[in-house]
Amino acid sequence: MGELKECPFCGGKPKLSNRLVVNGSEVKTVYHIYCTKCLAAIAEYDTEFSALAAWNQRSSHEKNN
Ligand SMILES: [Zn+2]
Repeated sequence: MGELKECPFCGGKPKLSNRLVVNGSEVKTVYHIYCTKCLAAIAEYDTEFSALAAWNQRSSHEKNN
């Protein structure tokens, strides 16, 4: 698993979190990442990898602006 970049808003430490989602008879795990300092968060993704990629993408994107 890759490395999480720091929060684009406050430079705080991000944390990977997951939870179970029940949809009828289907149960799945979704993943999201949030900042432990300012609580900025991304959407929920089906895999850790997708969540991490989304967080890092936003992180670098925001910084380049
Ligand atoms: Zn933050």
